[in-house]
Amino acid sequence: MSASARVDLHTHSTASDGTLRPADLVRAAADAGLDVVALTDHDTTAGWADAVAALPRGLTLIRGAELSCRWFGVEPAIPLHLLAYLFDPDEPELAAELARVRRAREERGERIVRLLQADGIPVSWSEILAGAAGGTVGRPHIAQALIRAGLVATTTEAFGPDWLGERYRLPKDDIDVFRAVALVRSAGGVPVFAHPRASRRGRIVPDDLIVRLAAAGLAGLEADHEDHSPAEREHVRRLAAELGLLVTGSSDFHGTHKTVRLGAFTTGPKAYERIVGLARGVTPVASG
Ligand code: AMP
Ligand code: ZN
Ligand code: FE
Ligand code: FE
Repeated sequence: MSASARVDLHTHSTASDGTLRPADLVRAAADAGLDVVALTDHDTTAGWADAVAALPRGLTLIRGAELSCRWFGVEPAIPLHLLAYLFDPDEPELAAELARVRRAREERGERIVRLLQADGIPVSWSEILAGAAGGTVGRPHIAQALIRAGLVATTTEAFGPDWLGERYRLPKDDIDVFRAVALVRSAGGVPVFAHPRASRRGRIVPDDLIVRLAAAGLAGLEADHEDHSPAEREHVRRLAAELGLLVTGSSDFHGTHKTVRLGAFTTGPKAYERIVGLARGVTPVASG
């Protein structure tokens, strides 16, 4: 891995709430000049095979996922996202947990739609499910329905307090974060806390939880992310240094559901190599 390699370790495809199909995502990653891209759809590995099959020459694929977790140490519990890299997708307990969370997302989505409908807002659950096209359903799919109904102009607006950000926000049945770290490790994967200081999205967990997660097997923290201010990035980097955790930077690309571009933030080659070195589940894939 050369010192100038461009590594983006957090992207979403149509297997969850991104807008590019996995095959188009890896092509776009190559076009964006990336050397390594990780596919990290929410709570699913369904996009892996198509991404591998379409992998352009010169691009390395890291197979991953972004797990919907919750810390139950305070009331109400705080949701958080755990990136998991290179885990064995057939490890039964982890696979069952992911399937359970995907069902919980559908139940929550349907309940949000009923709340909207009760207020006279014309959205349809079957249409939202069709929009997700078999991928993990998320609020961005409901946001699209609000846009189609002419109620908001953009996804960002749909996540405002009058809509999915607060008034019509419901919790889903996420994975306990300590259980998620343990399951990812036992599936040979490498867990990295996604956007840990993204306070603009909602409540964030205290640093002492991150200390405990590090002791429980967390491998790294995502520092460079569009939802972190420069001060927040620096804070995450300092905390990671104190705890001996690796630090990543990533775009969290979602196609047209967000404005951020592939490679907008990247991970240094040393952190990337640490992730690969720790992994025991599946290997990075490079096409011949
Ligand atoms: P969910 O996983 O269903 O709770 O929805 C969360 C997803 O919505 C995140 O992964 C982002 O893709 C997206 N999201 C969250 N906040 C915003 C926002 N303010 N603007 C646009 N997309 C957002
Ligand atoms: Zn998302
Ligand atoms: Fe996330
Ligand atoms: Fe993400």
